[in-house]
Amino acid sequence: MSHEYEKVEVPEAGAKIEAVGDNELEVPDNPIIPIIHGDGIGVDVGPAAQKVLQAAANATGREIHWMQVYAGEAAREKYDENLPDDTVEALKEFRVSIKGPLTTPVGAGFRSLNVALRKKLDLYTNMRPTYHIDGVPSPVKAPEQMDMVNFRENTEDVYAGIEWEAGTDEVQQVKEFVEDEMGFDSTIHDGPVGIGIKPITEFGTKRLVRKAIDYALENDRDSVTLVHKGNIMKFTEGAFRDWGYEVAEEEYGDEVITEDTLWNERDGEAPEDAVVVNDRIADNMLQQILTRTDQYDVLAMPNLNGDYLSDACGAQIGGLGIAPGANIGDGRFLAEPVHGSAPKYAGQDKVNPSAMILSGRIMLEFLGWEDAAQLVRDAIEATISSKKVTYDIERQIEGGEKLATSEFADEIVENIEDLA
Ligand code: NAP
Repeated sequence: MSHEYEKVEVPEAGAKIEAVGDNELEVPDNPIIPIIHGDGIGVDVGPAAQKVLQAAANATGREIHWMQVYAGEAAREKYDENLPDDTVEALKEFRVSIKGPLTTPVGAGFRSLNVALRKKLDLYTNMRPTYHIDGVPSPVKAPEQMDMVNFRENTEDVYAGIEWEAGTDEVQQVKEFVEDEMGFDSTIHDGPVGIGIKPITEFGTKRLVRKAIDYALENDRDSVTLVHKGNIMKFTEGAFRDWGYEVAEEEYGDEVITEDTLWNERDGEAPEDAVVVNDRIADNMLQQILTRTDQYDVLAMPNLNGDYLSDACGAQIGGLGIAPGANIGDGRFLAEPVHGSAPKYAGQDKVNPSAMILSGRIMLEFLGWEDAAQLVRDAIEATISSKKVTYDIERQIEGGEKLATSEFADEIVENIEDLA
């Protein structure tokens, strides 16, 4: 053990996931996995997910040794701090973990703990697979056409936190620099102004696009689409597109082909098993996910585009109760649902734990436990198809049976045992 923990208890049984090389992990059949239940409905969905993921692990001959770690409200209650160092150390040392939602108060107070965690662990990719689970109501006619995996850059863009509040000396200095030194003398209106900076780096772009292309190659996906607003923001979003294409053209040989090369040199015939890299402007892409859903596969995007696009994709397959996600760095992984802490439902044993469970499913895939991951998906599908559902789905379907969070999880566990 490299770190002496005071604020978390390390399980006595179980083994640590170790790194071998840069990105490879050695995963035992009895890994210790840190879990943060999270704020609000985290106390409901966290234990539900643990139960289901353990059942899938057991059904495939494995055992997860959970290690409770604390952040947000639970950490404040226990240790009077938001994010103890021990929590960050545990997520670093044990490498693969899962968390529920953490509340971020709007305006004053502290910055997002979710963003802090992603930064501290350098989890530079946010990955959101978006596929339809049979039986889940959707606002679109053919939700089954959606089978996309969104890769959103997690560390830069306007989310980098480089911004200045209206009325401060700092914002005045930045405004004067932009106007007097950089020559944008009639661009910013007079009067109070807030200013933010949008950094998009070659380093940040390329490592994100590599993750998306690697995923497409490993999972037999046909294409990776770079989604940007390079027509307007030429030196940031346009650079994202250009650096993305550079990765595609320079690093993968025949395995990857750009759309231009495909049409200019090969009459649209891609080499067998090659991944095609293309690009779309973000506003067009928001239409395309509705009008040409089945033509897209893997999307790679800067932070803000990724935020909008992945929620829009999530809505098409049934919304927040069902939408999973994960944050990935080099040799580190943190699964987390897309939804927040929905404080009004906290502790009521009411909400849908599917998003947290399906985030755990991405974790099982990341561990290489494909069989367990498939069981989780099949068991959720069997449960929802039999119309045994939580309130959010029950209110949208005819003849559904409304279950509590814990009852719904128990149904899924039963289905896992039946299917295994
Ligand atoms: P939210 O917590 O996601 O909840 C918004 C609404 O979405 C809920 O009222 C509910 O809708 C539905 N919903 C969310 N999770 C659900 C579930 N598991 N099952 C069924 N329905 C679900 O969004 P918010 O109210 O904007 O955010 C609350 C707090 O969470 C904020 O502090 C925010 O910063 C934080 N947050 C954290 C994360 C994270 O930890 N990664 C992500 C997003 C937001 P109905 O009431 O209509 O049923």
